[in-house]
Amino acid sequence: MMKNMTINHHLTDDLIMAYSAGTLAEAVSLAVATHISLCDECRANLESHEALGGAVLDSCGVETIGKSSLQSVLDRIHSAPERMSHLERPAQRRDARLPKPLEDYVPGGLDAIKWRPVGMGVRQAVLPTSSEATARLLYIPAGTAIPDHGHSGLELTLVLQGAFHDEDGYFRRGDIEVAHEDLQHTPVADISEDCICLAVTDAPLKFKGLLPRIAQPFVGI
Ligand code: ZN
Ligand code: ZN
Repeated sequence: MMKNMTINHHLTDDLIMAYSAGTLAEAVSLAVATHISLCDECRANLESHEALGGAVLDSCGVETIGKSSLQSVLDRIHSAPERMSHLERPAQRRDARLPKPLEDYVPGGLDAIKWRPVGMGVRQAVLPTSSEATARLLYIPAGTAIPDHGHSGLELTLVLQGAFHDEDGYFRRGDIEVAHEDLQHTPVADISEDCICLAVTDAPLKFKGLLPRIAQPFVGI
């Protein structure tokens, strides 16, 4: 699936290392796994991090590292591929727009989602993950903007359908935008097609320059 797709916006090394170490919140991990399932470049990067982890382990030697911590490192190294293969098991109903890591979180596919309005035609569905970070699907009608906002923490936005552009570039299916506190942006969905994104945040967004009555519906994001 999606083998010939060109992806221009990738994960950071920090995110790939933290994913490999198993230290990310479930929602963040879900966005990373979803991008990796679509991106050969980041998958190769993850594999080289995991190979490097094994080499460091060999050079430490078993005596200095101690048996139980050796086992925990091995468990961690082995858990990433297992986590992927667990997520790659076939679902009963396949939705071609849903990458495999998302299937367990969206039973029945995108058409079965109960979208909730968040203002200006934008709709969302929060996915069931642990509470340290929030994963939501956003449905942004063609040509619609998410109001100008900043970030109190990390925001990952991965395109599943359609495309959007903002101050950082143009994002199509598979592309992931990694936004930190220093980015202020106004994502706008392409005019040609409604845009569906996986958006993960570990802190609420900060909307600026909006009338309170317009900003209010977006406060839940
Ligand atoms: Zn990538
Ligand atoms: Zn943002």
